[in-house]
Amino acid sequence: MIELAVIGGGPAGLTAALYAARAGRSVAVFEGSGFGGQITLSPLVENYPGLGAVSGMELGDRMYAQAEAAGAELTFSGVQRIERNTDGTFLLETEDGPVSARAVIYAAGAKPRTLGLPGEEELVGRGVSYCALCDGPFFDGQGVAVAGGGNTAFQDALYLADICRHVTLIHRRDSFRADPILVAQAAERGNLTLLPSTVVEGLESAGGRLSGLMLRNTETGEASHLPVSALFQAVGQLPESRLAQALGVPVDEAGFIAAGENCATPVPGVFAAGDIRAKGVRQLTTACADGAVAALAACRICSQRA
Ligand code: NAP
Repeated sequence: MIELAVIGGGPAGLTAALYAARAGRSVAVFEGSGFGGQITLSPLVENYPGLGAVSGMELGDRMYAQAEAAGAELTFSGVQRIERNTDGTFLLETEDGPVSARAVIYAAGAKPRTLGLPGEEELVGRGVSYCALCDGPFFDGQGVAVAGGGNTAFQDALYLADICRHVTLIHRRDSFRADPILVAQAAERGNLTLLPSTVVEGLESAGGRLSGLMLRNTETGEASHLPVSALFQAVGQLPESRLAQALGVPVDEAGFIAAGENCATPVPGVFAAGDIRAKGVRQLTTACADGAVAALAACRICSQRA
């Protein structure tokens, strides 16, 4: 039996692992897709204190290496099911077999929301993308669009403006959710157009690839057409809380886990950390803070149950 199982290897999960390992606990992180979480998709992180500007990929790699060096077990294995045993411990069914743990930190994060446009699925990988960092270089010198008005959309648009001939950022409202500094940087770029109060209503294709967008201005109702080779969607996140819900952990109406600042859920021994937790500020720094808080609280539980 390990003391602490961490589900999810993003910044929250890796910080939890670092703190728990440094506290002398046996801790394993289970990650089914890729360590580092969504931050690895950020071309440039400029708001992580002390590091200046760093690529999200590099930051994720550093977090991984630090947790591993501290003694955490980092496992490329997804968790399929969690059960709470009658003695209050947990049984995790992972892709590599069953694992028992005294406490669980649920840090499974979120996945990208999609616009769900007609024909969208068929065009994924043929012009429709949910990852500018991954797919942007395929559109070198071409005209592309980004949908969304948050930090991710602006970071993506700025990154793409370095690669593509022209970038149009399309946002459904007339004001942006993104940090003003990013909006200001975007406004200064000659090859980046901000298109507020506009929604993407349809996708156009030619030869099996995206060729343009059907747009509508939400204030005037006017329809327009924008020829682009790619549409990068950055319209927010959907929480991956399914396994926690199955354990009886309550979630809010959007599916985020309703744990307080101490990261404890109402299910004894289960903690929620990072973007999965219902909270006002979803940032790298707050994800890491959650990881530390959850780990230290879980370590106390492990002491009581030892
Ligand atoms: P977000 O802040 O939730 O923004 C999502 C954007 O997509 C919003 O502008 C939203 O519009 C729009 N949107 C949502 N559903 C839509 C739909 N169906 N159709 C059209 N537009 C839609 O998501 P995010 O940008 O991915 O950021 C997630 C969190 O990570 C945020 O807290 C962000 O600050 C954080 N983040 C931090 C960093 C960093 O620390 N360096 C980098 C990236 C992201 P409305 O504004 O109208 O709701």
